[in-house]
Amino acid sequence: MIEKVEKVLEELQKIALEKIKILGKPIPKGELFLTLNIALSGSREHLHNEAINLTKIIDAEINDLIAHMEMLPVGRIHCLKCNTATCEHSAPTKRREVFVGYKPNGTPEFRDLTQALLDKGHPQTHRLFEKKPPILALAIKPQNLFSNLLPGFKPWESMRIHGAVICGWFIDKEGEKNGITFLLVSSGTKRSRRKFYLHTINLLAAKAELDKLLLTNGTFRWDQPLQWSKKMLKIIEADLRSNTLTKAFIKKIEARLNGVLDNLALRLEKITEKETHYTKHAVERKSANRPVSQAFLDLKSATVDWSFYDDTEKSIVIVGPKSRVHIFSPNGKLITSIRYSSEAIQRKIRSGKWQRISLQQLNELKKNAIRN
Ligand SMILES: [Zn+2]
Repeated sequence: MIEKVEKVLEELQKIALEKIKILGKPIPKGELFLTLNIALSGSREHLHNEAINLTKIIDAEINDLIAHMEMLPVGRIHCLKCNTATCEHSAPTKRREVFVGYKPNGTPEFRDLTQALLDKGHPQTHRLFEKKPPILALAIKPQNLFSNLLPGFKPWESMRIHGAVICGWFIDKEGEKNGITFLLVSSGTKRSRRKFYLHTINLLAAKAELDKLLLTNGTFRWDQPLQWSKKMLKIIEADLRSNTLTKAFIKKIEARLNGVLDNLALRLEKITEKETHYTKHAVERKSANRPVSQAFLDLKSATVDWSFYDDTEKSIVIVGPKSRVHIFSPNGKLITSIRYSSEAIQRKIRSGKWQRISLQQLNELKKNAIRN
């Protein structure tokens, strides 16, 4: 049954891709939100009308996504003076810079994160100078992003800024400090179908080099707080679709959006705390010699569904319960045990970095591991 539905979805995906191709545009990132009404009885005509409706929705969704992508390329922000996001004003010029609002003339203003946090009175700013600085974050209300702008500049028509979170330091692979701005924007021509995005502004991102900030396990340090915020935004999107948009309701939505940003800032600041806790925990485990014994127990009960060959590392990966990941050499020696987030695990499987091994290979590994 699921395969049948999968086929239908695949067809819809093909239709959407064809439409984008006809428009001559690159495929935008994101998803189409479609509402399907399926009658259990009714005429052919009814189906036909539904098909027309759905086609219209697909077109509108594609247009919104493309408009969004063109207005906000990754890493940059729209410059109101030049009315584009590709001019020299639209990206930070240093890795440490974050977006703090618009200048009177409509160009975006970027500032070193320390300066920005000082200006806004973050009580812990001095900690950014520590040898191992914690992550500091601050939410900026939308009105503060526009307060210096001279009257006469109109924010973009179909896109709105609902505030931002500035944060850092994130140390990249070259040892440089990075400030990041997560800009909360929404786009969509219809108010009830607006979509919310957390848009990343940062020099590395603008240069398509954001992967310099990837951790060894393939995630970004901010992944979890960001995922949480995205989930909250999806809930708000759904509420917008299913409620009458009175003034009072819109006000409530705005308050909730502010809440998401405040909470995102809090969660970002907790990253450091969590990481310190985690490392301490890992050291304790190591000294108790537990991961190793756990590795062989996990290998013993491993199934082919969770056993992979890592082609780049030439190693065999066994995924145990609670996202425990054990890496073995092909001859059965345990190289290391780590914990990956389940998203990181899924990503490695989907990208093909990890490929499933056969039952025979798995049994061979089990035999070799015992011999070692
Ligand atoms: Zn400009």
